[in-house]
Amino acid sequence: MTDSCIFCKIARGEIPSNKVYEDDEVFAFHDIHPVAPVHFMLIPKLHLASLMEADAIHNELLGKMLLLAPRLAKQQGLENGFRTVINTGKGGGQEVFHLHIHIIGGGNIPPMVRRS
Ligand code: 5GP
Ligand code: ZN
Repeated sequence: MTDSCIFCKIARGEIPSNKVYEDDEVFAFHDIHPVAPVHFMLIPKLHLASLMEADAIHNELLGKMLLLAPRLAKQQGLENGFRTVINTGKGGGQEVFHLHIHIIGGGNIPPMVRRS
């Protein structure tokens, strides 16, 4: 799976990306099709298809990612806040099946759910 996964290849540096952050366990890079002035993704280096495949052994890794998100957002200029999005599975609109947290901000962020 990791051989054909585009985000595994990005994390290994085999496909170029605009890197935001990297350590032993995680990698962050700008989205190729940003939906706001700042839009990057934070991924584990471990191939995990989605949140649906995560379990208790991933507690620490997922906790680390959530705590890292505001630090990286601030470094990218999002001092006033940001939106995090994790699309999960086809039902959640996920297109790349390697778990990723979208971190989005810097523009006019519309309400996520519109009530008409
Ligand atoms: P998803 O819909 O799975 O939550 O989000 C996948 C995201 O990955 C999309 O926003 C898409 O623009 C981004 N993406 C897909 N392929 C690449 C790529 O090769 N490089 C980068 N930087 N982003 C990508
Ligand atoms: Zn992967």
